[in-house]
Amino acid sequence: KKINVGIVFGGKSAEHEVSLMSATSIMKAIDKEKYNVIPIGITKEGSWMIYNGPIEKIENGEWEGISNKLLRDKPKENIFSIIPIGKKECQTLDGIPPKLESKIDVIFPVLHGPYGEDGTIQGLLEMADIPYVGAGVLASAMCMDKIYAKKIFELQGLNVVEYFVVLRHKLKNHINDYIDIIEKNFQYPVFIKPANLGSSLGISKAHNREKLIEGLKEAAKHDRKILIERSILCREIECAVLGNDEPKASVVGEIVPSHEFYDYEAKYFDDGKSKLIIPADIPKNKSDEVRQMAITAYKALDCTGLSRVDFFLEKETNKIYINEINTMPGFTKYSMYPLLWQETGLPYDKLIDKLIQLALERYKDKK
Ligand code: ATP
Ligand code: MG
Ligand code: MG
Ligand code: MG
Repeated sequence: KKINVGIVFGGKSAEHEVSLMSATSIMKAIDKEKYNVIPIGITKEGSWMIYNGPIEKIENGEWEGISNKLLRDKPKENIFSIIPIGKKECQTLDGIPPKLESKIDVIFPVLHGPYGEDGTIQGLLEMADIPYVGAGVLASAMCMDKIYAKKIFELQGLNVVEYFVVLRHKLKNHINDYIDIIEKNFQYPVFIKPANLGSSLGISKAHNREKLIEGLKEAAKHDRKILIERSILCREIECAVLGNDEPKASVVGEIVPSHEFYDYEAKYFDDGKSKLIIPADIPKNKSDEVRQMAITAYKALDCTGLSRVDFFLEKETNKIYINEINTMPGFTKYSMYPLLWQETGLPYDKLIDKLIQLALERYKDKK
């Protein structure tokens, strides 16, 4: 019997477009002999839609115009009473309504950032009693919040870059006090980040006071909590982790950004000028250390399914710092996470299969 996989894409976060790219790749590569794909799109405004048009119209946003609205028209209905397949409006990618009476067997929430990667949709799926790919509620929430993730990293004795937290409401009336504190504790340049986001959105690198103020204001547009970090002169190393109770680490990769840092443009709109080097050309003892740290962090934050763990290798000291964990990393065929597994021996389509199986196992383990 084929497994019905709901692939959720889009979403309310600023990483909406990134999600469209990840989900498109997954829908193209997923084993159609084994899985029925039910695409479920979420618009930027938060409307849920059942989509059964061509995969090619997802990335450019055209899917929205040719989908059936789920929630907006029937806001009082439980979303999961509408999603169950077998109804006319719910079709697989091939346009054939699946014959099974059962509901969706498993959801792959291919959503990045808030309302996707942060435990909120995970909570909804827990309540609906539907298995889903990736980390659970707590792990998702902790990893999304860079401040809480750092606190747990520190508890584990993992090196984190020096940081400082400012709340948005304090910036309104006391911005100069905070600038003074930051300037006393850090040398320029510093990094400024919203606590909860991804794809470098809202992040800036400030070389002076004026840019610091600008950066704080920019980050405050995205989040009520803002992080200031020492800017570290480093090589950027990433490691992919896969599994539930016995997670495995991939080979490590290096990112060489085409910009001053790996910002949104360098990540997605740079025609490959940023380089992914897989495996990273670093000594074996360093890559072993990274992989060990990745597993330690993954377990400490109670991750399941998958995560990409991001590190800095400081040039001057050769010290490794953990930066963050992404519980739903970019997932196109050319993204770091799948490429790391490919190099480790697990190709893209097999990786998708493995993730769905891990979701089903995790669900069974809970019972
Ligand atoms: P994503 O989830 O897409 O990996 P993100 O938005 O969660 O990204 P970070 O990974 O924390 O943000 O930072 C984005 C990029 O900014 C890093 O890849 C790196 O290039 C740069 N960066 C962030 N913090 C620092 C730092 N303290 N020192 C030097 N570079 C940094
Ligand atoms: Mg991130
Ligand atoms: Mg991210
Ligand atoms: Mg990162």
